[in-house]
Amino acid sequence: MPFEKRVPIRGKAEDRRRTEPDLKVATVDQNADSTVAAVWEGRRCRGVQTVWHTRENAKREKALRKVARKQKRSGRPVKGERSNAGLWRYISGLDTALAWQIAAAILAWAVAAGVQVLVFEYLRPYRPLRGLSWSRRVNRKRSYWLRGRVLERVRHLALCQGILTVERNPAWTSQACPRCSHLGERFSPGERAYPSGFRCGHCGWTGDANVVAVLNLKRKWNRTFRYPTAEEKRAAEPSRRRKAGAAASREGSPETVGANARSADAPAA
Ligand SMILES: [Zn+2]
Repeated sequence: MPFEKRVPIRGKAEDRRRTEPDLKVATVDQNADSTVAAVWEGRRCRGVQTVWHTRENAKREKALRKVARKQKRSGRPVKGERSNAGLWRYISGLDTALAWQIAAAILAWAVAAGVQVLVFEYLRPYRPLRGLSWSRRVNRKRSYWLRGRVLERVRHLALCQGILTVERNPAWTSQACPRCSHLGERFSPGERAYPSGFRCGHCGWTGDANVVAVLNLKRKWNRTFRYPTAEEKRAAEPSRRRKAGAAASREGSPETVGANARSADAPAA
């Protein structure tokens, strides 16, 4: 049933950053079998929420394996005829439902936490991996497509609630250490084969690999949208120095101390 709703929007992130430097931000990272979101208050992380969809991912792969098996048995596909129509309908239904479920879970949580901006990763076109079976390859692709569909639904749902959606470049967000920005490595805690842990060889920070991306994504938000950015601070510096004259050298020191404290200030997650 189509409906209309008037939503007051107070402007884009770019317009609001000067007047509201402390917008309540939540960062969201989408993986193949989980979606992780973190809510922030200034520079502190106030909570992490994970939506698991491991089971749905496995279900999709199982259905795709069935498609492959049936196709193999029946030989060459008939031209102009859709094979395994029922199975494909099941798969696309699964994806549609899952996209809505994830989007709704994120939104419900964001509204409850009073979030004003949702920061997502900018999704690049999918690059297929070599050396996988057909069903695995297709499953990977579809789970990647799912991220785009979740993002689209979140954008609409968020707009209805007056929440902004922003996308940032995801480069290095899952490899860099959230504390010192050096490249870290994944490891598997205990005997589990899947490398779900993250360790930094430089400063020794360890944590959940899924959380690393949301912590780093917040820094990307800060760098562009948190007023004043490091660049704006630098631009403001010479004029102050000119005005202050001799006091410039004294004024320079707290600034550098502040900058150091800022870079060392890691989320206590
Ligand atoms: Zn580190």
